[in-house]
Amino acid sequence: MIVDLRSDTVTKPTPSMLEAMFAAIVGDDVYEEDETVNQLEAELAQMFGMEAGLFCPSGTMTNQIAIKCLTQPLDEVICEEGSHVYRYEGGGIAFNSAASVRLIKGDRGRLTAEQIESAINPSNIHYPHTRLVVLENTSNRGGGSYYTASEIEPIYHLCRLKNLYLHLDGARIFNALVETHDDPKKYGHMFDSISICLSKGLGAPVGSVLIGSTDLIRKARRVRKAFGGGMRQAGYLAAAGLYALEHNIARLKEDHEQAKRLGQALQECHFVKNMLPVDTNIIIADLIDSYSADNFVNRLADHGIKCGTFGHQKVRFVTHLGISSSMIDYTIDILRKDRH
Ligand SMILES: *Cc1c(COP(=O)(O)O)cnc(C)c1O
Repeated sequence: MIVDLRSDTVTKPTPSMLEAMFAAIVGDDVYEEDETVNQLEAELAQMFGMEAGLFCPSGTMTNQIAIKCLTQPLDEVICEEGSHVYRYEGGGIAFNSAASVRLIKGDRGRLTAEQIESAINPSNIHYPHTRLVVLENTSNRGGGSYYTASEIEPIYHLCRLKNLYLHLDGARIFNALVETHDDPKKYGHMFDSISICLSKGLGAPVGSVLIGSTDLIRKARRVRKAFGGGMRQAGYLAAAGLYALEHNIARLKEDHEQAKRLGQALQECHFVKNMLPVDTNIIIADLIDSYSADNFVNRLADHGIKCGTFGHQKVRFVTHLGISSSMIDYTIDILRKDRH
């Protein structure tokens, strides 16, 4: 048995998702003639109470396009120090947008309005112009922690007051929403742009959607072309996204339950020093000094269980729709037998 807990990106389309993809009506999306892409963009925008959407090959691209559209060169972007836009997008903010970054250490990836307020630069030519705040929900390096909509509200008000744009890296926004039961329209109201991944826990093979106002998305479409992200008969991929929105949102709750169960078992292992609380589908554990993360990963790999290292002495597991309850049982069993 192979149990791949490295990431929720490893999911593969199920037979019924593949059927939906085969049946897609497609056209040339660079001409905006792909009905299925248009439907996916409209559906997500509508769900969040926004005007328009743009289907892109990756969440890195939707984030980078948003940052490009919402900043000018010499501006500054405020984000959390572990945020994906800063740590995992290849330095894209500097490269694509010529903007600088102000990092804040959050509580498991989450920022407060007070922290953001104190990171806003005074209006003085020595300092870059603070223009944009990026939040991440759920937070990947925060171990799947989430904000509720009401926790974001003070940040939204601060941004309005200080004339800052607000972007959400909502790669796993549905993992947050199935826990909080917040109305997604609250998000559409607070954020200038939202990036949503279909290729994570939702189980689509490829794709992310950026949503925002009609004006923003018009601009974003030009930037996507310049970034090389204009796709042609992309409806086959969008069909997987539509299928995922219909069938794979509510079931994220099951991933969270499996993650909690696995987290509980890890907590009881003598070689686990610390663990972040398991709030959604991500488990991050710190190992004791005598057990290196690489060793741990290799030992589990010998039993067909894949997880990832996540920095010094840290390991990460992510649950998703490819992980059954019996796979978790098996993993727990192996962990209990590890006599390191
Ligand atoms: C996965 C992820 C993204 C986008 O990643 P791609 O692999 O480029 O689709 C963005 N933000 C977060 C927090 C992620 O976990």
